[in-house]
Amino acid sequence: MLVRARCVTDCPAGVDVPAYLSLIAQGRYTEAMALHRESNPFPLICGRVCPASCERNCRRGDIDDPIAIRPAKRFMADHEFEIPWTPPKSKAPNHIHVAVIGAGPAGLTAALRLAQQGYTVTVFERMPLPGGMMTYGIPTFRLPREALLAEIEHIWRAGVEFRPNMELGADFTIKSLMDEGYRAVILTIGAHRSRALDIKGEDRTGIIQGLQLLREIAMDQPPDLQGKRVLATREFDVTEAAASDDPYGGVIAANRAVKNILLQIAEFCSQYARIESPRSGQE
Ligand SMILES: Cc1cc2nc3c(=O)[nH]c(=O)nc-3n(C[C@H](O)[C@H](O)[C@H](O)COP(=O)(O)OP(=O)(O)OC[C@H]3O[C@@H](n4cnc5c(N)ncnc54)[C@H](O)[C@@H]3O)c2cc1C
Ligand code: SF4
Repeated sequence: MLVRARCVTDCPAGVDVPAYLSLIAQGRYTEAMALHRESNPFPLICGRVCPASCERNCRRGDIDDPIAIRPAKRFMADHEFEIPWTPPKSKAPNHIHVAVIGAGPAGLTAALRLAQQGYTVTVFERMPLPGGMMTYGIPTFRLPREALLAEIEHIWRAGVEFRPNMELGADFTIKSLMDEGYRAVILTIGAHRSRALDIKGEDRTGIIQGLQLLREIAMDQPPDLQGKRVLATREFDVTEAAASDDPYGGVIAANRAVKNILLQIAEFCSQYARIESPRSGQE
């Protein structure tokens, strides 16, 4: 029985990894990009932040080390960065209007594929910028805005219209879209609410959930930490800190990755923030 390579079956987007790696090895970067974009239109972004399940399951890793698939993707995408991509159309315009709600990677990909198949697509987004969690969740030191927005620009080049600051339920409804003539509505609104820990004291002043913190930083509105000591905790530590009557007077509840963010805020505010672990006491 013939099966596809493990890297392909383990890639959530089903990217044909052996094919594009082979093209990269031959220096055929434009063709490699085109092949990649057939299944995933975001090689520049994924080359930076994809968890790369392809590499974890690479067969070469059974012998020594896995192929550096994601770095190769990043190299390819960076090499082609300056070249604007206009996505090819597979069908003529059919004048059917489709609304996509939410401009995260799911909504943007849906919009692109529909536009390529001849639909007239409008993306409605409640935030000022597109990208969803890529813009308002992943910090810029991991995914610089320039790369992110440059790659999203290709979606508009396919003829997709973008309408920012438009919130479903506040500025429009599904019925109002249907009344305007949209024949279908695609809901891709993500999961933007932090998971509650369901512990006593969780809603106290000074406790900031991770997603809220990241969004405020992305919008250049970080919390005012002037003169405050800051505690970054993981879930277990949050329980511990809340139960111990909050000795620091200000607890930031989030995961370990937030430590880097806090250091960014400290720099942003040109002030000193002390990051301390409640269990080890280490900074
Ligand atoms: C902190 C963090 C770090 C991450 N890091 C990585 C990583 O390194 N690599 C990786 O692969 N994945 C990462 N992820 C996961 C990744 O960001 C998500 O899987 C992905 O963004 C989900 O895409 P989506 O389009 O479904 O939703 P989202 O990206 O959440 O997009 C949904 C969009 O819908 C909009 N919306 C919501 N409600 C409405 C409404 N009522 N009206 C109009 N618009 C609305 C939102 O504003 C948003 O723009 C990370 C996630 C987080 C939170
Ligand atoms: S880096 Fe991510 S998107 Fe690229 S092939 Fe691997 S799993 Fe797929």
